Amino acid sequence: MKITFDKGFLCGGCKRRYGESQIAYKYKESCICKRCFDNFKSYSKEAYFGVSDEVEFLVSAFHYKSIYRKIFLDFKFNGQFAYGHVLGMAMADVLKERDVFSDYQYIVTVPVSKERFAERGYNQSEVLAEYISKAIDIPINNALVRIKHSAPQSTVHTSLRAKNVKGAYLSTETFNGENIIIFDDICTTGSTVTECARTLKRAGAGKICVISGAHNVQQWIDRTIHRFI
Ligand SMILES: [Zn+2]
Repeated sequence: MKITFDKGFLCGGCKRRYGESQIAYKYKESCICKRCFDNFKSYSKEAYFGVSDEVEFLVSAFHYKSIYRKIFLDFKFNGQFAYGHVLGMAMADVLKERDVFSDYQYIVTVPVSKERFAERGYNQSEVLAEYISKAIDIPINNALVRIKHSAPQSTVHTSLRAKNVKGAYLSTETFNGENIIIFDDICTTGSTVTECARTLKRAGAGKICVISGAHNVQQWIDRTIHRFI
């Protein structure tokens, strides 16, 4: 179907329709308009050190708040698949400017359980990671599987999240010291990525860093060291 200018593309943030000139990213009939994108792209180039012993540093494309959260929730929980593509494009553009991934060989996405996959029909992290992988030119190697179907981290109190994911992952591959980037769509306490990092290190991985699509800065502000990169 041809999209005409007056119909336009629907923005996942403000839910208005726009023509090409007002759009930051588009996929099929969906978009992020320039105004909404400006709202969440103003993230400074910080990296977070000290997330956990297993993780060298974490970089995040965006902060998990306001307009961003609206688009992301529609993608992750409301089946608005197209917003995953526009978010993936936006993340890729932000992350490719950071020159910190050159000694990493693979991107491993955080897996979902079979049950969660069946419920949603896709792993939202993989959709986003595809765009990032192309932008930073590092291949995806999805070596992790989730072997424990536990409650979603977002529904578990922050103090119990490490316990909730303990023993939840298994590596299907062994490594010879390759450095790995773990990608998670959203990072709050860091429990999930830390458990994934432990699992990969037990399988022989070298250094591990984390890219998250977005993170909740309030969770990190006191317990990590920020450095501009
Ligand atoms: Zn908008």
